[in-house]
Amino acid sequence: MNVSASRKLFNDSKKVIPSGVNSPVRYFEPYPFFTKKSNGAYVWDEDNRRYIDFCNAYGALLLGHRRKEIMNSVSKQLSKGTLYCTPTASEIELSKLIIGNFPSMDKVRLMNTGGEATMTAIRLARGFTKKKKIIKFEGCYHGAHDSVLVKAGSGSAHNGISVSDGGLDEVSKNTLVVEYNNIEDLQKTISKNKDIAGVIVEPILANMGLILPEKNFLSDMRKITKENNIPLIFDEVVTGFRVSPGGAQEHFGIKPDITTLAKALSNGFTISAVGGKKEIMNLLSPGGNVYQASTFAGNPISVSAAISSIKTINKIKNRLYSKLERFNLLFCKELDDMATDMKIPHQINFTASMFQIFFTNTPVTDYRTSKKANGKKFQKLFNTLLKQGVFIPPSQFEVVFLSDAHTQNDLNKTLDAYHTALKSVKN
Ligand SMILES: *Cc1c(COP(=O)(O)O)cnc(C)c1O
Repeated sequence: MNVSASRKLFNDSKKVIPSGVNSPVRYFEPYPFFTKKSNGAYVWDEDNRRYIDFCNAYGALLLGHRRKEIMNSVSKQLSKGTLYCTPTASEIELSKLIIGNFPSMDKVRLMNTGGEATMTAIRLARGFTKKKKIIKFEGCYHGAHDSVLVKAGSGSAHNGISVSDGGLDEVSKNTLVVEYNNIEDLQKTISKNKDIAGVIVEPILANMGLILPEKNFLSDMRKITKENNIPLIFDEVVTGFRVSPGGAQEHFGIKPDITTLAKALSNGFTISAVGGKKEIMNLLSPGGNVYQASTFAGNPISVSAAISSIKTINKIKNRLYSKLERFNLLFCKELDDMATDMKIPHQINFTASMFQIFFTNTPVTDYRTSKKANGKKFQKLFNTLLKQGVFIPPSQFEVVFLSDAHTQNDLNKTLDAYHTALKSVKN
């Protein structure tokens, strides 16, 4: 394998970029490959090696790399300008499309990243209730800001950081952490604390590997928060548009008070959104006193990508979701059979177009059981897949994402690669 270009770039990168990467999960041993270009289901590294991409920008690329509808609409906008910092008609069009897919929202505000969206959602919940504490679930990841970087998943779990250095105790002590899939823990925490401004949750936990909500977990959560007048925030940064056109809330039939969207909202451009009931959303500045602002919010390039992305999803939804679900189901079944035949202790969690394998005998239902799985074996699996031209996210605590660009042939090749990778895990 010729890896010299990426190795050279990584050595160079470390001199000017901390750890050589601009986001921690991108690093892996001994060094990450550097990407030159992408198309459809593939990325190419600087040595011109092609990988079948199952990272898909951590789920953002539901429709695949450089999807033509989106490229066309962005090209059109590029010829008209990139940033005005005035309102535009296209922002109204996008907001109506989002609200159309997410009926729990009366109003929506656009911003840039998932973390910015959850930060605003939490500030809104505090502004609305005039209360202080928030409840989050162990292993859920809501971005890299202080009040949610407590027992978080994703790169934070991968690097063993429970509370980030530089974060204030005064902030993290107002974040109460409850076990995922443990409704009694939530009930108890709410009964003991009178000062709760909001509950934030990933309706499907996609940042500790993949962890599904157990039956009634979300509906009981909705019931308890309603009874206690606590706003419920669904962080649908991963699940929005991915598990259905209306996200996990459509999938499970549950209406949160506030929703955050980002990754698959624009199929690969910088944009996020916070939406919810109008009595909450109207608190945002300048009409209300909950401040939120950004120079790049609602930028015309990302807005044009998101409009085209949602329109494309809505147009093809009848075949898109059933196809991805069928591909995923068949893939996971084959993978399960292989691992069982090889007598490798394992769990496979999957739903819609996402899955993850864990090397453990214990069902993975929360932070603790996900942490218990054999991470060294997972790392070996990752490296062996990579050598065969299959790129999955480089951490046990992320998720494998299918896209509309994957073909049956890509999946067959990937299954073969997993077969070899499982053998390497067994040895
Ligand atoms: C990725 C992610 C975020 C953070 O989004 P960024 O755009 O990386 O800030 C928030 N919530 C969830 C559920 C995510 O997966």
